[in-house]
Amino acid sequence: MAPAGQPAARPPFVAANWKMNLLRGQAEAYCGVLRQGALGALHAVEAIVFPPFPLLPIVAAGLAGSGILVGGQDLHPEDSGAHTGDVSGPQLADAGCSWALCGHSERRRDHGESDDLVGRKAAAALRAGLTPMICVGETREERRAGRAFEVLERQLTAALAHLAADRFAVAYEPVWAIGTGETATAETAQEAHRFLRGVLAGTAGRILYGGSVTPENAAGLIAQPDVDGFLVGGASLDPRRFLSIMAVCVG
Ligand code: PEP
Repeated sequence: MAPAGQPAARPPFVAANWKMNLLRGQAEAYCGVLRQGALGALHAVEAIVFPPFPLLPIVAAGLAGSGILVGGQDLHPEDSGAHTGDVSGPQLADAGCSWALCGHSERRRDHGESDDLVGRKAAAALRAGLTPMICVGETREERRAGRAFEVLERQLTAALAHLAADRFAVAYEPVWAIGTGETATAETAQEAHRFLRGVLAGTAGRILYGGSVTPENAAGLIAQPDVDGFLVGGASLDPRRFLSIMAVCVG
């Protein structure tokens, strides 16, 4: 975030990744609480919700006109075709999405997504008018072996090679911090974000931190000069906790 007294180029950005959680009634109630609670904050923070595919219509309707954006958690690299069980960029856009997550570590782990596939998904998002949020992050073993930056550079460079437009965000999500309660220290996050900023080499993408972010630890992280916001999993499932994280970002 920009130092106090200096206007940020763009407001901080906070994203809720519901993963494979919540049902229709819960999603409806969530949207009501979120849109009401966010009213006073949206001048100073941007917010987005990534629900599971079946909940997209409910969330898109529930947040319509609120200024809070909606995104898909994944998409297929092709725009249509014989790909059972997959969802395309045009379908996400048609369902009210303006963003798509690409390469979340749980998809890399559960579905064997390669760096190249993540890049093709990001390109497909752009073609559909969506903004891709490209997730990168090293495992615990890679960090211990001193290879964190090498992995981050490889993942991000491979994705950027597919992008024809300067419209994307990056989420730095160290795999060892996701869903573990073990957040990166502010210093570790800042170091990785600064490194990623260098890889972006002047392109406009914002860099969010993800990995066990809570209302309690968000302040130290968002105070770092290269942390532009958060991608929040577990703590985003309660709209009040997600709102508290937004409030921390407003400062
Ligand atoms: C995530 O899945 O993107 C994430 C950061 O999860 P959590 O906040 O639960 O660690």
